[in-house]
Amino acid sequence: MTTIDYREFYIDGGWKRPATSEMIAVNSPTTEQAIGSVPAASTADIDNAVAAARRAFDDPDGWSTWHPKQRAEALDRFASELELRAAETARRVSIQNGMPIWLAEQFEGGFPAVLLRYFSQMMVDSPAIDERPGMLGGTARVTRHPIGVVGAVVPWNVPQAISFLKLAPALAAGCTVVLKPAEETVLDAFLMAEAAAASGLPAGVLNVVPGGRDVGAYLVEHPGIDKVSFTGSTAAGRKIAEACGRLLRPVTLELGGKSAAILLDDVDLNASLESLFGVTFLNNGQICWLNTRVLAPQSRYGEVVDTLTDLAKSLKIGDPLDPATKIGPLVSARQRERVEGYIAKGKSEGARLTTGGGRPADLDTGFFIEPTIFADLDNDATISREEIFGPVLSVIPFADEAEALAIANDSEYGLGGSVWSSDIERAADMASKVKSGTVGVNHYSNDPVAPFGGIKSSGMGRELGPEGLHTFQHLHTVYLPPAG
Ligand code: NAD
Repeated sequence: MTTIDYREFYIDGGWKRPATSEMIAVNSPTTEQAIGSVPAASTADIDNAVAAARRAFDDPDGWSTWHPKQRAEALDRFASELELRAAETARRVSIQNGMPIWLAEQFEGGFPAVLLRYFSQMMVDSPAIDERPGMLGGTARVTRHPIGVVGAVVPWNVPQAISFLKLAPALAAGCTVVLKPAEETVLDAFLMAEAAAASGLPAGVLNVVPGGRDVGAYLVEHPGIDKVSFTGSTAAGRKIAEACGRLLRPVTLELGGKSAAILLDDVDLNASLESLFGVTFLNNGQICWLNTRVLAPQSRYGEVVDTLTDLAKSLKIGDPLDPATKIGPLVSARQRERVEGYIAKGKSEGARLTTGGGRPADLDTGFFIEPTIFADLDNDATISREEIFGPVLSVIPFADEAEALAIANDSEYGLGGSVWSSDIERAADMASKVKSGTVGVNHYSNDPVAPFGGIKSSGMGRELGPEGLHTFQHLHTVYLPPAG
């Protein structure tokens, strides 16, 4: 198989030789074979990228000073170049992290261009000046300004969509960006850089420098960065929050989760199967907001366990490039070991395994794990409390709605969640009481119009919606004197 190899970084609007010869080798989690390589950024490369972004931001006639319409035109060209590469972007993500191709086409091929146009248009439609009649006689003139050079650090699980949750609002607002992709998913990031170059995005507006956590930490603390936007684990988020606290540097953190799906006693299980799959096993269990705790009423507990067990058994496991595949491999051998460790823990703590729990018998290559369901356990089990990041569910019984809510809210995390019922208003009422950033009713989807993000150990700040744009702006007030 031919491999996809790059030898230079996209910095300052062109392809630049790396400062060192260190490389990142990319292996397929499906075939375990080499599929590509890119240079690994050193601190010197980060310095170059930040300097380029800084120059672009500080240019008195540059990107940050353009009219939003002018930036919208440039970002529309970027979106069009991404669309030309959408199929290849989806393929590259799928072969790197195991995301089923049908999902990669939606999330990774499709979403970035949508987000670029959405936030560009929002900027065009936003009033440039907000003049407020003052209480003290004068007028307060409030304006929003791009916050500066953004350091964006992203994970491997949904690499393109997550990158554009940051890039689209940041660029639309007039910021310039240094993006550090995760080492597992770099080939899609370089294709995105090709799209940026082909679209004629001005030099330094976007710079792409992949590397490991040390390079990420260096970027976060770099004196040339004005704002950090991070998506990843809670452990890394804490370290980044500490660094940004010390530097008094604005930071947005999208971290881990252990969200709950609450099935009320009138749920229509058969009608909900596809959506239940979407909130539990999507992307092989590797999405931060997945509902990996399923809370079921005692009166229907056996039925829920059986339904989910049948659902898990029905999912086709295999090559993520096969459109029929529902469950691809986990991203790496390390991630599989981690998930297997949790499965062992679930068994040793006495939970009942109803299906899965191991590697599929017919697949001896690739980092596959069967969709796995544990029943007869409570919310105190380790696998009910810790984020596993794999296709493993805890099905927990509850006696009444009050207990369901108490269990759902008894978590160090607060990112997503869902409530399922034949009565939408009953479910929506319960959803309003779930302590997390977002909750779905009878489904879950991160609609771009609304803020997405977490509370507690799931992070701080929001992405998407106008709130997602505002995190890349700072506010400026001029007090005009009373008239006359
Ligand atoms: P990770 O935190 O190990 O790595 C994420 C990114 O941060 C990578 O680019 C990595 O190189 C970098 N990084 C790691 N430590 C760093 C540090 N100290 N300073 C700067 N950069 C650092 O996470 P992961 O294992 O790659 O991703 C999975 C995690 O991401 C899960 O916990 C998942 O819940 C979370 N996630 C959250 C969201 C969300 O929106 N809340 C979305 C996707 C994934």
